[in-house]
Amino acid sequence: MTALEAPHKPRKPVMRCPYCIEGGGFKVMIGQGGGDWYMCARCGHLTLPTDPVFECTCAKCAERKNRSPETRR
Ligand SMILES: [Zn+2]
Ligand SMILES: [Zn+2]
Repeated sequence: MTALEAPHKPRKPVMRCPYCIEGGGFKVMIGQGGGDWYMCARCGHLTLPTDPVFECTCAKCAERKNRSPETRR
C-alpha cells in the first residue's frame, strides 16, 4: 500500500501574522506576486521566508525593535 499524496499540493505554505488575531487564530498573510513575499492586510507586516535576514519595517516590528534591550539607555 502506498501513501496517498495530493497530486497538486500547494507549494506555498500558509504564513500567519504574529501580531493579528482573526477567527481564534493568527491572521493569514496574503502572498504577494514577484517573490515569496507575504503581507498582512491588517497591520502591514511583511515577511520573506526565503530571506532570513529580511527585516520588516511595519509599525509593530518597529515598536518591538525600539523596546529591545539593545536600544535601551
Ligand atoms: Zn498583522
Ligand atoms: Zn512587521
